[in-house]
Amino acid sequence: MFEFSVLATTGRARAGLLRTPHGDLPTPVFAPVGTQATVKTMTPRDLRELGATLVLANTYHLYLRPGGELVARLGGLHRFMGWSGPLLTDSGGYQVFSLKTLRQVDDDGVTFRSHLDGSTHRFTPEKVVAIQEELGPDIAVCLDECASPLDRAYNEQAVARTHAWAARCRASHRRADQALFGIVQGGIFPDLREQSARFITSLDFAGHAIGGLSVGESKEQTYATLDLLDDSLPRDKPRYLMGVGTAQDFFEAVARGVDVFDCVLPTRLARHGAALVKGGRLNLKNAQYAADETPLQEGCGCYTCQAFTRAYLRHLLVANEILGLHLLSLHNLHFLLDLMRRIRASLLDGTFEQLSAQQHVSSDV
Ligand SMILES: [Zn+2]
Repeated sequence: MFEFSVLATTGRARAGLLRTPHGDLPTPVFAPVGTQATVKTMTPRDLRELGATLVLANTYHLYLRPGGELVARLGGLHRFMGWSGPLLTDSGGYQVFSLKTLRQVDDDGVTFRSHLDGSTHRFTPEKVVAIQEELGPDIAVCLDECASPLDRAYNEQAVARTHAWAARCRASHRRADQALFGIVQGGIFPDLREQSARFITSLDFAGHAIGGLSVGESKEQTYATLDLLDDSLPRDKPRYLMGVGTAQDFFEAVARGVDVFDCVLPTRLARHGAALVKGGRLNLKNAQYAADETPLQEGCGCYTCQAFTRAYLRHLLVANEILGLHLLSLHNLHFLLDLMRRIRASLLDGTFEQLSAQQHVSSDV
């Protein structure tokens, strides 16, 4: 059911297709993040019109509210949120480990206090699989321990726990219509990453997620780790780089064999009044745009840029109008989704290197 085919390659970069129960997923793919089973201010119809093919939802948040059981009773996450395409959930581990003072980890799992009401909860590998089976995404991931990427001692411990938990997740996963991905940890340490890749791939997951990157290490360290993992992970299964999503990262990670990305960046930037544009970011709250009659990005095909000026969008943001957030999110999502589409098309027609070179000229986003 989750057959993955590589259709074209340029070096280590590949364009592929992952079959899922909710349709074929062309890769490489960028998944907008719908933390609370909604990509903030965007309807599923908007997302489809933008060409989004995969959406990520957060297990931690949906477990706390409204709860996996209720979502299951209401027909599962696809039906609950009105999204009929492929869905992916994270394990909740990243959110729980971000709670810091509110959680306590042991070899069996992690106990934490809800950020909503302070109530106590416990995630074990089996529990996290059970919640994701209730939610019912096409792709679920294992519970892992997220360590700071530069802390050697912590990473040794976190890798050992992540491995034990991965084996338990694999053993407790039941749904045949759901792919379970194993997560490779190990920070920036080549031997730990290799050890982790070896162990995780031995469990025969449907795909592999790369965790613990883009959380404090340098770009060089991120890319060196991806280089190493490209040799250690099987090429016939999809690779998912968790939580990474700038234009530069897309090119660098796709060139190192990554297929799936997710990131809150486009919608988070929108909430801060910033637009993704070629060569950087544009802060619309800046007074210089008050009477600017140009679109956010000249030549952009999105509805926001077709219909509205920077001056109007700035006015909406300054006046705290909801439409401002929607229109800015729409443009930012289009920016990254369209970029990923062009990357995929360039892999299929053999022009990835040219597109990548143009990106380097127009610099970092
Ligand atoms: Zn636009």
